[in-house]
Amino acid sequence: MRKGEFMEFCDLKRQYQLYQSEIDAAMAAVIKSGQFIGGPEVAALELELAQFCGASHTIACANGTDALQLALMALDLKSGDEVIVPAFSFFATAEMPALCGARLRFADINPLSYQMDPQSVQSLINSKTAGIIAVSLYGQLAPLDQLQTLADEHGIWLLEDGAQSFGAKQGAWSSCGSAKIATTSFFPAKPLGCYGDGGAVFCQDDKLAERIRLLANHGSKQRYVHEAVGINSRLDALQAAVLRVKLSHFESELEHRAWVAQYYQDQLSDRVIKPQLCAGQRQAWAQYTIRFKDRDGLRDALTEKGIPTAVHYPQTLVAQSALKGHAQDPCPNAERAAAEVLSLPMHGCMQFQDLQKICHAVNEFLTK
Ligand SMILES: *Cc1c(COP(=O)(O)O)cnc(C)c1O
Repeated sequence: MRKGEFMEFCDLKRQYQLYQSEIDAAMAAVIKSGQFIGGPEVAALELELAQFCGASHTIACANGTDALQLALMALDLKSGDEVIVPAFSFFATAEMPALCGARLRFADINPLSYQMDPQSVQSLINSKTAGIIAVSLYGQLAPLDQLQTLADEHGIWLLEDGAQSFGAKQGAWSSCGSAKIATTSFFPAKPLGCYGDGGAVFCQDDKLAERIRLLANHGSKQRYVHEAVGINSRLDALQAAVLRVKLSHFESELEHRAWVAQYYQDQLSDRVIKPQLCAGQRQAWAQYTIRFKDRDGLRDALTEKGIPTAVHYPQTLVAQSALKGHAQDPCPNAERAAAEVLSLPMHGCMQFQDLQKICHAVNEFLTK
C-alpha cells in the first residue's frame, strides 16, 4: 500500500483517474444535449451491450433489482406460482419473485463452485413450478446449459440473474447473452458499474423484448396511453454515457481481473479453499472468494492490517427472516458457505504491491 493511502476493496477512484478525460467529456456532452432520460446515449449503450454479450435485445433500466422484477412481470409470474432460486445469493434474487407473489423454493449450491446445483433444482420441480432463477455467482457462469435443458424438459422458464457476471463466457454460452431471458446490474461495485444505479434486461425473443420495454415505461408505448400496469424504470443518459466509456475498457479490465485471480490462486496458501478456475471459461471475477473455517478470525487479522474484505453472504436466503413464510428447503452446502466465505479485494485496476501485501497477510495468519 502506498504511504498515506488506504487500500480499497473495489477502487472506483483509481478507475476514474484512469479514464477521467473520456468520462468527463462523455458526461459533459450529455449535459449539453439537454437529453437526460432515454435518447441516443441509452439506445447506443443498449446496442453495444447486446453486441458484447450476444443477446438479441437489451432493455436498460434503473437497477438490477428492477431488471429482475421486469423480467418476472414479462414472464407473467403469478401469485401462487413456485420459483426456484439458489439458497446462496444477494437478497434481490429471492425478493423480486416474492414481491410478485410467488412461493420460493431454495436449491442448494455446489460446494466448490458455489453455483446452483442442477440436481437440487430438479428435485424441487413440480406442477406448480413456473421457473428457475439461476445466479452466475461471483462472476462465474451458473450451469446454464444443464439448467436450460431442465427448464425446457419441464416447460418452465430459466432466468439468469447475471448481476455479477456480465462479460463471463464459455464456448457458446455467455452471461446475459444465452439464456432466454437474463438481467444484470450496473451498481458501481459490479464488474461493469456506473456512477449510481443502473441495470438491464436481456432476451432473445422480439415479443418478450417489446413487453419488457412496455412494462419499464408505465405500460405505455404512446405518451399518456397505457395498455398495461407497469413500473417506471429507466437508465439515465448520464449513466449510459459513463457505461459506454467503461465498456470500451471492459475487455482489458476483465483480463486484469483474471490476472489478479491467478495471482491469488498461485500465491495463497492451500490452507484456504480457493475458488475454482473453470477451464475454458472467461470468468468476470466480480469477487475473489476463499473459504476458511475460522473466517472471522482471518477477517479480523486482515482488517487490522488495513486490508478490506467482505462476506458475500453471511446468511443463506432460506435463513432470511423476511422469507420465513416460504419453503424451508434444506441447503447444507449454502449454510456452510455462509459461515466460511470471505471475499478479498478485487477490481479491474489492482496494483501489484497491494496484491502482494494481501497474500502475505493471509499466509502469515495461516501459519500462526
Ligand atoms: C447486485 C445484485 C442484484 C441487485 O442489483 P441492484 O442494481 O443493486 O438492484 C441482484 N442480484 C444479484 C445476484 C446481485 O449481486
